[in-house]
Amino acid sequence: MTSMIDGQGRHIDYLRISVTDRCNFRCHYCMPEKQTFLPHNDLLDYSEIALLANRFIAHGIRKIRLTGGEPLVRRDIEVLLKELGGHVAAGRLDELTLTTNGSRLAQFAPILAASHFRRINVSLDSLNPETFRTITRGGDLAQVLEGIAAAAALGIGIKINMVALKGENETELLAMAEFCAAKGYDLSLIETMPLGEGVANRQDRYIGMDDFIAPLRERYALSPLAHRSSGPARYWNVAPLGLRLGLITPLSHNFCDDCNRLRLTTDGKIYMCLGSTMHVDFRKALREDGMAAVDTLLQKALRLKPARHDFERQLADPELRLSRHMNATGG
Ligand code: SAM
Ligand code: SF4
Repeated sequence: MTSMIDGQGRHIDYLRISVTDRCNFRCHYCMPEKQTFLPHNDLLDYSEIALLANRFIAHGIRKIRLTGGEPLVRRDIEVLLKELGGHVAAGRLDELTLTTNGSRLAQFAPILAASHFRRINVSLDSLNPETFRTITRGGDLAQVLEGIAAAAALGIGIKINMVALKGENETELLAMAEFCAAKGYDLSLIETMPLGEGVANRQDRYIGMDDFIAPLRERYALSPLAHRSSGPARYWNVAPLGLRLGLITPLSHNFCDDCNRLRLTTDGKIYMCLGSTMHVDFRKALREDGMAAVDTLLQKALRLKPARHDFERQLADPELRLSRHMNATGG
């Protein structure tokens, strides 16, 4: 096995793969209500995704997360789940995981468990059915909770992702923390990032993490944990709940110095940073030029990976914002 070092000297071992830009929800912070999606011909098929994953694993990727859009809405996704699961079974991958909105989890939990997904992230911004429906523009909270319970019952570790939304779910943090602690789930809180055009109320909804967690600090004792996952969260123990709380703070506390990630989009581009338009296009290399060209592009991606994102200026100035939505690159 080789290892991958980027132009800033960072060790890259984590690949996020967006398997579709489509989704059955329309979370208002993620995409506009009327969203156009990529034509099917532009998408990598499962054998192409598997080929790229194999190559990246050979170069040193040890963790893969599937994301989207909603990964579980892509047709026949079980084909890819099982294929990638084979790498975990063979010891070539340390971790295979998924970020999902949970709406199809009840159906897919057994396939995920059989494909060696030991932990998954489920997005859940509210435990109030009406607020949940409003944020997701139509999502059914009961269906998501049923999916989460089905996955947990099969021994899959659950981490809940909650985006901090000013005036929308900021009064719900205590209830969410207590719910997660009671169920044995981890909880990660995410600051909303200024990605994508046509997303209403971007600045109005932004709340810094210190403000969002203030009610939790008033009630409970938070102490830092040494634990690190493969992602950017910093972890805290919430006593006496015994809750492991992850804070993802791209804006208020930048974490780019130890970024270990590359992102593969549905149409075969590698984005080196969520907050940058810079990318290299693997689809043509894969379809026309062969594996030597793929290897050359990977080296280029590593060389060009930016030192840090620029979300602070992008939040303040709409002209600097990236038109790409979160569902296109994957969260
Ligand atoms: N559909 C799946 C889901 O919602 O979990 C996977 C894709 S979604 C883009 C991945 C994560 O990104 C979710 O936890 C979502 O809440 C988060 N997300 C989407 N848009 C965001 C934004 N503008 N700022 C911060 N997080 C965002
Ligand atoms: Fe869909 Fe996930 Fe984006 Fe919500 S956050 S619209 S569930 S991709």
